[in-house]
Amino acid sequence: MSERAVLALGGNLGDRKETIKSAIKAIKELEGVTVVSKSPLYESYAATEEGPDQSAPRYLNGVIEIETTLKPGTLLTEVRKIETAHGRVRLERWGSRTLDIDIITYGSMIKDGKRLTLPHPRAYQRAFVVVPWAAMDPSAKLLGHGSVAELAESLKTQVWEI
Ligand code: ATP
Ligand code: CA
Ligand code: CA
Repeated sequence: MSERAVLALGGNLGDRKETIKSAIKAIKELEGVTVVSKSPLYESYAATEEGPDQSAPRYLNGVIEIETTLKPGTLLTEVRKIETAHGRVRLERWGSRTLDIDIITYGSMIKDGKRLTLPHPRAYQRAFVVVPWAAMDPSAKLLGHGSVAELAESLKTQVWEI
């Protein structure tokens, strides 16, 4: 049994493009994972609890679609290892980082667990998730929020393609 899943990758420290490229390669090399498609990459200002911080290093983000036989919990464990391998250090919430990988959707699974919430609860309001996702898959739907392209349309001024 395999499922389609959407993963979001991003970071604002180091060589962001190289890190995302290397992380996608590491995801491809996971047993039981095939990368089906990749979005363009978009830049945006860092989000803080107080809103966008134009003085913080800017983020580069993209999304990929995978096909996987891994269960979602195993997938999370594996992507967290890839974050660590790319120098991710966890300090304050939403702090700067070399690499963040979130599971945005996993098939049509709805889950609100201690370790994993699906779909990702903040994905629908994040330009850096929905804009690349809509570019990769114009017909994508986000469970509970409808058309990803429509979500992207209303948030698109917050990110720019580079
Ligand atoms: P945000 O969740 O707002 O994007 P973040 O990515 O900076 O913030 P992290 O420190 O990377 O937050 O992750 C915190 C925890 O979120 C992880 O330890 C993980 O267990 C949990 N988590 C819950 N749902 C998901 C999901 N869908 N994808 C990735 N992590 C998740
Ligand atoms: Ca995140
Ligand atoms: Ca994360």
